[in-house]
Amino acid sequence: MRNTNENVQIRVSGEAADIEKFLAALKAEAPPASFIQDVQAEEIDFEIFKSFTILSSDDVSDDVTEISPDIAVCHECLKDMEQPGNRYHYPFVNCTNCGPRFSIISDLPYDRAKTTMQSFVMCPDCKSEYDAVLDRRFHAQPTACARCGPWYELHAKNKPVETSADAIASSVAGCLEQGSVMLIRGLGGMHLACDAFSLEAVGKLRLVKKRDMKPFAVMFRDIESLRNYAHIDDIEMASLLSWRRPIVLLHLNHAGKKEIPESLNAGLGLIGVMLPYMPFHYLLFGQLKTNAIVLTSGNISSEPILIDNREAMEQFPDLPGGMVLHNRDIFNRTDDSVVRIIRGRERVFRRSRGYAPAPIRTSLETGGILAFGAELTNCFCVGNGQKAFLSQHIGDLRSLETIRFYEETIEKFLKLFRVKPSLLAVDLHPDYISTKTALNFPGLPVEQIQHHHAHIAACMAEHHLDETVLGVAFDGTGYGDDGHTWGSEFFLCDLNSYTRKSHFSYLPLPGGDMATEEPWRMAVSWLYKVYGSDFLNLDLPVLKEIGPEKTRLLVQMIDRNINCPLTCGAGRLFDAVASLLGLVQTASFQAEGPIRLESLVLQCCADCYGFETGEVVTFDTMLKEIIADFSARVDNSIIATKFHNTIISVIFESVKRLREQSGINKVVLSGGVFQNRYLLEGTINVLTRHHFEVYAHESVPSNDGGIALGQLAIASKRRSITCV
Ligand code: ZN
Ligand code: ZN
Ligand code: FE
Repeated sequence: MRNTNENVQIRVSGEAADIEKFLAALKAEAPPASFIQDVQAEEIDFEIFKSFTILSSDDVSDDVTEISPDIAVCHECLKDMEQPGNRYHYPFVNCTNCGPRFSIISDLPYDRAKTTMQSFVMCPDCKSEYDAVLDRRFHAQPTACARCGPWYELHAKNKPVETSADAIASSVAGCLEQGSVMLIRGLGGMHLACDAFSLEAVGKLRLVKKRDMKPFAVMFRDIESLRNYAHIDDIEMASLLSWRRPIVLLHLNHAGKKEIPESLNAGLGLIGVMLPYMPFHYLLFGQLKTNAIVLTSGNISSEPILIDNREAMEQFPDLPGGMVLHNRDIFNRTDDSVVRIIRGRERVFRRSRGYAPAPIRTSLETGGILAFGAELTNCFCVGNGQKAFLSQHIGDLRSLETIRFYEETIEKFLKLFRVKPSLLAVDLHPDYISTKTALNFPGLPVEQIQHHHAHIAACMAEHHLDETVLGVAFDGTGYGDDGHTWGSEFFLCDLNSYTRKSHFSYLPLPGGDMATEEPWRMAVSWLYKVYGSDFLNLDLPVLKEIGPEKTRLLVQMIDRNINCPLTCGAGRLFDAVASLLGLVQTASFQAEGPIRLESLVLQCCADCYGFETGEVVTFDTMLKEIIADFSARVDNSIIATKFHNTIISVIFESVKRLREQSGINKVVLSGGVFQNRYLLEGTINVLTRHHFEVYAHESVPSNDGGIALGQLAIASKRRSITCV
């Protein structure tokens, strides 16, 4: 057997029937985290093999093998941790079925020498397992034991004070239970941790992280303890327990016996939850009395997750609880991934640990394309053959550290996946940092791609669509062909080009980017458009909270057209309604308005408000009806539900009209707004009832984290057309 950068080659000899059995077993008994794309069998000259041997890995061409994402510790390794011997309570136990992969790999083919485990020399016991064909650790590159492998250290005041894993776990448990905040080095980066049920500790964590309100992810001990707090259906449970171990967004169990502190999740009806995935997490829960700890990325908000021990000590010099560090280096930084189950499917919102860098298989020739992605929630993408390697979540390209991480990771991906860039794909927005980063590759052709076209193309590439479709792209912002801010696009499009058939009506966005953080600006702009100055007489919470002074200033900005770009972003409409209902005036985390609005939705109300569709969709009727409902003291949850139903109706009416015009029946939904569960479910339900074929994102984020895949697909298509 031989591992090459293209594939795994196995040579066997024997009776035909035995070889058939072998081929069947290859698929049937494949390890859980493995993925067999294809098995090709051919006859070779007869040869007698005396034993099973693995030949050294070889590069046979420029084609690439894939790098496995990191895998949660498996049951058998957890059992090994309970057996006396070199792995008793050893927190780096792993085998061929589990353990670190992407986070420690510096090059291909995947051998120990090309991982950050190369500095640890295997002891004779580990080496004999590594060499034994029938052993679970046969050629497990990161294999290790307490005698030869990495270890943890507890640091207090930046000095190591403890190195026994058991003693560390018990000391950490004690500190967390006393309300301390601690830093714990993980698989793809550092985490900050505290007791999830301690209001005081959560407050301290917010200070340390400089994060006001944004909900924290929580690690629960197990499914049983989680059930007391949140609803879990079978598919959510499968995601929680899968070897990828993502953070799963769950609905809180309000009827349940127990509640979590509001400060954890900003009082939303949702919580991001994960289960233990590293051996150390299990050791820790073995000592902890609390059933859940906050485990959030170890960084100052807006910076990338820390991976370096020294940097962690510098950034958090006086964490009272101390730091748990280890000495297995992290080569590729990964955050915890985030998914949500919508309409029975796992939808990835943040694609990182456990998912990246598995390629997205496309039906396009993507070789040599480097797509830079968007500016916020950035991921980039490189192509080799038909495979698109979408990077792990990079983050918002707004801090120097994140930009450095972005540039370094581009270099790493080009090297790892053997891509020599020959075509660059960027967003149409000239000021995006991602667009400007293309300047680091001078002399190469650059394909500029409209943001929402890229959203739709990302979803098309994910579903192997290469034809004309009806594309519905709803998000917050994206640079349009007319220089205005788009975000509610109804396209008739293919991978090459698009016609913008319809969009929401434009409104001035007073303050530009500032308005995304201050939803009240959008509400006032809309009120002013529909009511003129009379809106000042309306009795609305937003006007009271903002006060007449600021409101008048905003009106002046609109009148004089000072810093008032035009927008039709669907996300802004959600912001405006959230502001009108008094839910959010100043957002303390991204998309707070839309998320709060969705949190209120009821399943039992089917009513909706008035609207006018056509080339431009207008919501003036809806605004008046919302104000009327509000004045009549209709409950906010009813208003929020009717608003969502209205948007679903607008989508349905619009694509129905476009189907009549074009005969096209396939609808592709993309953009961050479709992370809204009620909206996505409702839209898919009504469209499929009317016999549309509907495509929505699953393994690629529908937010800007998926943009780079769409850019890559469009660039590939356009290149193939010019080449013909
Ligand atoms: Zn294992
Ligand atoms: Zn060993
Ligand atoms: Fe977008």
